Amino acid sequence: MRMVNGCLIYEGTEKLKQRIERAKANVGVDHVFDHFGFSYRREGNFSCPFHTDDSPSARLYDNGQHFKCFAGTCAFSGDVIGVVQRVLGCPVVSAVEFIEATFRLYGIELPEVSDEISLTKYRAECERAVMDYYSSIHGKLDEAQKFQFEQVFVSAYDERVTLNAWFCKNGAGNESDFAEVQKWARRMVKGLSAWEAITK
Ligand SMILES: [Zn+2]
Repeated sequence: MRMVNGCLIYEGTEKLKQRIERAKANVGVDHVFDHFGFSYRREGNFSCPFHTDDSPSARLYDNGQHFKCFAGTCAFSGDVIGVVQRVLGCPVVSAVEFIEATFRLYGIELPEVSDEISLTKYRAECERAVMDYYSSIHGKLDEAQKFQFEQVFVSAYDERVTLNAWFCKNGAGNESDFAEVQKWARRMVKGLSAWEAITK
């Protein structure tokens, strides 16, 4: 443990870089806005949550990965780490810890991407992992809870339509496709993980 710029660093810089990349790959600005109850739009402008904004001047980019405010007096922009830092007024390390804890990045283990695995197989394995996670929660709920839980699952699972549309538009077979599958699986996990607490 050491101090850097007034922050306690628990691990090597390289490890922190990996955690930052993992946080950015799995959690979007939209997820953070959902968590804090900020109103926003996925497409088009909306009122900036960081200044008094009478004429909507903020926007999300890159499928919710980046935020930008166009008002000259504010002009705040950032990725998920920057937005969490802005909201909490904290250093990078704390923002990463917050994201990991809040979005349960370790809720399930997704399969590793490797040279040997095809995109089709990888996607099937991710879907299997999500289904196993679903079953592990489902089995512990009572009948009334099960019904509600299934509704949440069905609406989240429908996001596969979005994923399929992405593949149709961009083709398949490069590295970013694996990242898209991972993002989809993480969104599923996020939707389900709130229920995990109920089963404890
Ligand atoms: Zn602003």
